[in-house]
Amino acid sequence: MLTNRILCCSRLFFQSNVLIFCTRQRSFSTILSWNRISKNNRFKIIQNRLIRYENKSYLLLPKCSIHTTPRRYNPIISVIARQVLKVATMFTARAIRKWYQNLPKERRKIVFAWLAKHKLKFLSLFILLSLSLLYYYESHLQETPITQRKRFIAFTPEQFRLLNRIELETKLNEFSNRLLPGDHSTTRRVAKVVKQLIEANRDIKHIDEHDWTVSVIDDPKIMNAFVLPSGNIFVFSGLLSFCDNDHQLGIILAHEISHAILAHGIELASHAHIVDLLFIGLLGFVWMFFPTDTIAAIGSFISKLVMNIMMETPYSKMLETEADEVGINLAAKSCFDIREASVFWSKMAFMEQSSMMEMFGQPESPVNLDFLNTHPSHKERSKNLDRLVDDAIICRSKSGCPPLPNMDPRIRARISDQQKMNETFRKELQGIFHIKDLE
Ligand SMILES: [Zn+2]
Repeated sequence: MLTNRILCCSRLFFQSNVLIFCTRQRSFSTILSWNRISKNNRFKIIQNRLIRYENKSYLLLPKCSIHTTPRRYNPIISVIARQVLKVATMFTARAIRKWYQNLPKERRKIVFAWLAKHKLKFLSLFILLSLSLLYYYESHLQETPITQRKRFIAFTPEQFRLLNRIELETKLNEFSNRLLPGDHSTTRRVAKVVKQLIEANRDIKHIDEHDWTVSVIDDPKIMNAFVLPSGNIFVFSGLLSFCDNDHQLGIILAHEISHAILAHGIELASHAHIVDLLFIGLLGFVWMFFPTDTIAAIGSFISKLVMNIMMETPYSKMLETEADEVGINLAAKSCFDIREASVFWSKMAFMEQSSMMEMFGQPESPVNLDFLNTHPSHKERSKNLDRLVDDAIICRSKSGCPPLPNMDPRIRARISDQQKMNETFRKELQGIFHIKDLE
């Protein structure tokens, strides 16, 4: 079912999260296999599969050794340390609980008395720790490019570049058998659209901070695109056939470019860093006070789920909406017909509804699981983009673009949707008559 693989750029990069990704065994093995390829061959592979726009350093990438990057500490160590800390917290909290339970009553009273005597010291330590965390958070606040929103960033660009490089090498390995050559007409189509977007937005200084490349993955069943923080754009061929025209493709790619220039990758990884620290505190509480190991394990699972629902999915949705809002302006400045944005997402929503009809006999899932999604629903995105179209049209005309065609594609889409619904209704009627005929 195509709708199971609908477009959601984050699913491959942001949701998987470079930091989490780095802890996977498979990732390390793919890095090792990539390292086994000689430098000359790696150079040829990348040259063959990627299209570059700038005469910058992208093709020199394989020559750079991971160990030559100047940095204070390796961010992967921080990721591994957090995972180790989680396990250590669980075992330590459990060991303290068991030690306390095995104490005779008299010894417990002594322990209580000792805790009561030193309660002010413990309280001071807790306040000091909380203030240190607050200072750490405050001192790492930065402004988002373009939208100027305050956000927490835990990594330096140099540290993040290292993670990005590992992610890129892994993706190249993962899709190595399905990457279309750089001179393939489909790759050239995507490259042309990306180039149009980049050229029209050169006034944004963050555009030049990226080394933009394009890769097309030949998989007609997947309608997806994603971007790595350094500007490596990956598009699945399923998405290309789903787009009615290059205007829709331009809007989707503008969304991906927005993720990169807004540095959403580093932001999401930093957010995960904070969520992990809070989760470690919660784990300590759960494994200290929950009665049995099974209940504590269930408690940990539920705590993680609640933290995801409360802190991670809304944050991811917020970044997606921001990328949509910036993206539509990038597309407008590039003279694309931005009215196609809501048409594309309405089409996605229509396809999702059809798939729900097939599965549940109704256009929506019987249980609303939107709160688990890392992306806003297709309907929501369509409405939000439609709301922004008038401003984007003004931005487009100020950029010296030719006037838009009189025929609004949204009207064309509505007529087409109506025809499709009529067709579905007609088929259903045919089905009913057919059954009656049999009777
Ligand atoms: Zn996205």
